[in-house]
Amino acid sequence: MHDLMANGLAGREQSDLALTDPLTGLGNQRRFFDKVDRLIKERAEDPAPFAVGLLDLDGFKPINDLFGRKAGDYILQQVALRLSAAMDGNATVTRVGADEFAFLYPMVFSEDAVAAKARMLIEILSAPYDVGERTARLSASVGCSLFFSGEETTEVLFNKAETALYQAKRSGRGRVVVFTREMEQAAKHVTRIEQQLRRAVAAGEVEPHFQPIVDLKTRRTIGFEALARWTDRDLGFVSPATFIPIAEERGIIGPLAQLVLRKATEAARNWPDDMFLSFNLSPSQLVDQNTGLQILSILSKTGFDPRRLEIEITETGLMTDPASAEKIVEDLKRVGIRVSLDDFGTGQSSLGRLREFAFDKLKIDRAFVSSILEDKPSEHIIRAILAMCEGLGMDVVAEGIEQEGQASRLVQFGCGGGQGYFFGKPANAEATLGYLRDSLRGALRVRSA
Ligand code: C2E
Ligand code: MG
Ligand code: MG
Repeated sequence: MHDLMANGLAGREQSDLALTDPLTGLGNQRRFFDKVDRLIKERAEDPAPFAVGLLDLDGFKPINDLFGRKAGDYILQQVALRLSAAMDGNATVTRVGADEFAFLYPMVFSEDAVAAKARMLIEILSAPYDVGERTARLSASVGCSLFFSGEETTEVLFNKAETALYQAKRSGRGRVVVFTREMEQAAKHVTRIEQQLRRAVAAGEVEPHFQPIVDLKTRRTIGFEALARWTDRDLGFVSPATFIPIAEERGIIGPLAQLVLRKATEAARNWPDDMFLSFNLSPSQLVDQNTGLQILSILSKTGFDPRRLEIEITETGLMTDPASAEKIVEDLKRVGIRVSLDDFGTGQSSLGRLREFAFDKLKIDRAFVSSILEDKPSEHIIRAILAMCEGLGMDVVAEGIEQEGQASRLVQFGCGGGQGYFFGKPANAEATLGYLRDSLRGALRVRSA
């Protein structure tokens, strides 16, 4: 009898341990899931909503690095103390990751109410922490979700809070985002696009369109930028500004880019030999060491001269892993592919990078070009960029030219290349050939006159 009881206790202690976070003494993720499971069962009979939240400390890792691991642990304990002191009534907080905490509010029934609770927690955590002689400060981001119906499982509820947390993190520090039905709709829409895009890429249904790039002084077309176009049977036209980021995020960008580059080089073989093709590379392709080989293999299959190809990359693309990007860029340049820096002036521009990367060309972002006639600062920025490119021996293309006035002003400042609706909108392969024939005929007429 006695033995049995002792065993029972030991068993309970053990299961308590399995549900406890040793550092802070709070419950762990399993305890959190258990609690939510139980509450969902209870609410099956009593249909009141409740709320869960996920709180993630912003910039905890640098604090750990700066103050040391022991201080980091101490701060986590303080965070745990503050959070548990803030739990009223039957609310609970648990530690579910290194610097991630989950809370459960059984008696919070609305999105507004849980957002207010979360903001209060962030406030409480923002007071300074004493670490020996020094003090540290922390902020936190929170994602919340509400249980409304018996169809939701603990996992679904947790995933929704996680989605909301990602969104909070993305929009800056110290934010609260509650997962709403609109977000659910948006998430479903993204998934739908992803599925259809996978199908379309496999079926070869994404097409390159081509936008002319001209010599601003002579107005002669010197090349084209390939821009991906996709019209889905059900979704209709989907802008690349929508589907390219989804393709990147969901790992479809590799096959998509290969398809579009293959089609683009096949079309460009029919253009005059002195015209180049410019192709955009996504940031995630610059961390994938296969990218260089894949491009080269497409060029050799379609028989397109690498010296007629330009690759456009953005500053964001260089930031994730500069060493990897540099290696890919080197591989491409070795076979004569030229590399341009796209959308210059809008991203996290670092002039240092222009020194490290030896770009052949720089494309000035549309934002400056569109305001060049009305806005003095834009004019100064463009002139400074042009002077810099001249010094560095880089070609320049101004993007987004829509009026003659912008084009002539850019010529006056010494800008060599231009692109924009004023010279031509992106058009499919066939229309592009037609455009080339017309402009060649025009050139012949001028010459014979
Ligand atoms: P981007 O590389 O900066 O391409 C230029 C964008 O500006 C294109 O939009 C083009 O249609 C638009 N544009 C050109 N001239 C004008 C103008 O005068 N006025 C205005 N308002 N817009 C102009 P698009 O085709 O919608 O592409 C958007 C972005 O999607 C591209 O920006 C590029 O970053 C990305 N993208 C498009 N195709 C591909 C692709 O095949 N691969 C990758 N990785 N990204 C692509
Ligand atoms: Mg581009
Ligand atoms: Mg651009």
